[in-house]
Amino acid sequence: MQDRPIIVGAGLAGLMTALHLAPLPVLVLARAPLGTGAASAWAQGGVAAAVGPDDDPALHLQDTLAAGDGLCDPAMAERILRAGPDAIAALIGHGAAFDRTDSGALALGLEAAHSRRRIVHAAGDGTGAEIIRALIQAVRDTPSITVLDDVEARRLIVEDGRIRGVLAVGPHGAMTLPAARVVLATGGIGGLFLHTTNPPAAWGQGLLLAARAGAALTDIEFVQFHPTALDAGCDPLPLVSEAVRGEGATLIDETGSRFLADLPGAELAARDVVARAVWRHQAAGHRVFLDARTALGDSFAQRFPGINAACHAAGIDPATQPIPVVPAAHFHMGGVAVDAAGCSSVEGLWACGEVASTGLHGANRLASNSLLEAASFARWVAEDVAATQPVRLRPLPAPKLPPAPDPAPVRAIMSGQVGLLRDRDGLQEAIRRLAPLAVSGGAAADPATLGLMLAVAALRREESRGAHARTDFPDHAPAFQHRLSLTLPEAIAAAGRLADPIARRA
Ligand SMILES: Cc1cc2nc3c(=O)[nH]c(=O)nc-3n(C[C@H](O)[C@H](O)[C@H](O)COP(=O)(O)OP(=O)(O)OC[C@H]3O[C@@H](n4cnc5c(N)ncnc54)[C@H](O)[C@@H]3O)c2cc1C
Repeated sequence: MQDRPIIVGAGLAGLMTALHLAPLPVLVLARAPLGTGAASAWAQGGVAAAVGPDDDPALHLQDTLAAGDGLCDPAMAERILRAGPDAIAALIGHGAAFDRTDSGALALGLEAAHSRRRIVHAAGDGTGAEIIRALIQAVRDTPSITVLDDVEARRLIVEDGRIRGVLAVGPHGAMTLPAARVVLATGGIGGLFLHTTNPPAAWGQGLLLAARAGAALTDIEFVQFHPTALDAGCDPLPLVSEAVRGEGATLIDETGSRFLADLPGAELAARDVVARAVWRHQAAGHRVFLDARTALGDSFAQRFPGINAACHAAGIDPATQPIPVVPAAHFHMGGVAVDAAGCSSVEGLWACGEVASTGLHGANRLASNSLLEAASFARWVAEDVAATQPVRLRPLPAPKLPPAPDPAPVRAIMSGQVGLLRDRDGLQEAIRRLAPLAVSGGAAADPATLGLMLAVAALRREESRGAHARTDFPDHAPAFQHRLSLTLPEAIAAAGRLADPIARRA
């Protein structure tokens, strides 16, 4: 009954938090074996950090605030971006081998809306895999860290408003794990949508665990759709990194026309702008391709070996053929509302990485800022967890285990009505369709409840800003130039005004 912090999730955020907590004993729960099931291992472009000789965190901040479209928390963003060079040094310290120039300096890539080359990468497009390889080794070398993989957290146990433990399920069935300090590092929500680049199970379970425990969520309406997922007809869709456009690849349609040429910034405009332009062009009946033949040609395979392999698996040779692409849900700017130490509004609950909403990303994440956020925030979360007094734990009654979640019935609703382009009628319709699933108690209940919260948040924000595009409110509204928080009871109350099943339950 030792009060050992539990970290839920073993991507960059979870593993870095565990390493920073050493030698304090911690338990890491991961739904999938280490190295799998985490978006971190799939990251291609790299980690943004102002480490180049022509760069400065102040310039990185300028670019981040511009992408965030008026919604970043500037002080928080400045703190995270200033910590960038240290976060890179910490990753190198754990053994991550980043690509270097002939002179031994870090090789820096360029991505959309960055004014400098500042993307630190490894093995070309294998950055995430290299970072996670190094961190797994470091975790294995750290005796204070115990990893339970193949274990899924299904509920947080809360008594008197504070965390008391985790209800989880593993190969041997359900288990109740007492703990007064829990860190959620559960990643993103792309799996709530039909097209996603996220690992298959990443539908936002951690976010819902927090909401059910009473935590406030912030800015959850902001979902970033990546403009160039490989249109290979599989699930999830392989990503074709923005770094390919950074190297000069262009977007064309089936006629060969470069349809974004007149857009300010063209292919390297902010990600939401490019994603909507591609979506609209496809909605008008066109097919869209990323053309790297001239910019990269034969060097494609060497610069982007992972993407090259994914293209070849789909029967495309990017050196000689345009790559078919489609927008896909990629990153969640919103998340569990946290303070500067990663603390949520529930005592004993922290959040780190994509599941958290720190204020860095605002309405739209600047490319490659998320690995940086996870790596730098992990230190501050660990410091706060370690400074929180352990409490005396007692055995907990096991709450009823909810069914294994299945987002399948929710995904078409989310993509259809809560996707790249939204309006009031569609969002209300989504709420009406999600409500019976949310109260069903069945496998779709948890994903539908989170989808409902997103739809309520998107309905409430009557403006277009960053990744949140309302066709009925196409402009910024000064009244909405602030971050919005939402709790589960608030979402249920709002949905209850539109949907009978929720009204009866409320
Ligand atoms: C294809 C792709 C490419 C990307 N490229 C980049 C890039 O180049 N640069 C960049 O900055 N960002 C990139 N991103 C975004 C970035 O990878 C993520 O934001 C970041 O890795 C999130 O890290 P995390 O540790 O928060 O979550 P993850 O790495 O997703 O880890 C989540 C962990 O939580 C576990 N988990 C989830 N729910 C539960 C549960 N209920 N119980 C137990 N375990 C659970 C998962 O199994 C996993 O171990 C990319 C994302 C994708 C999908």
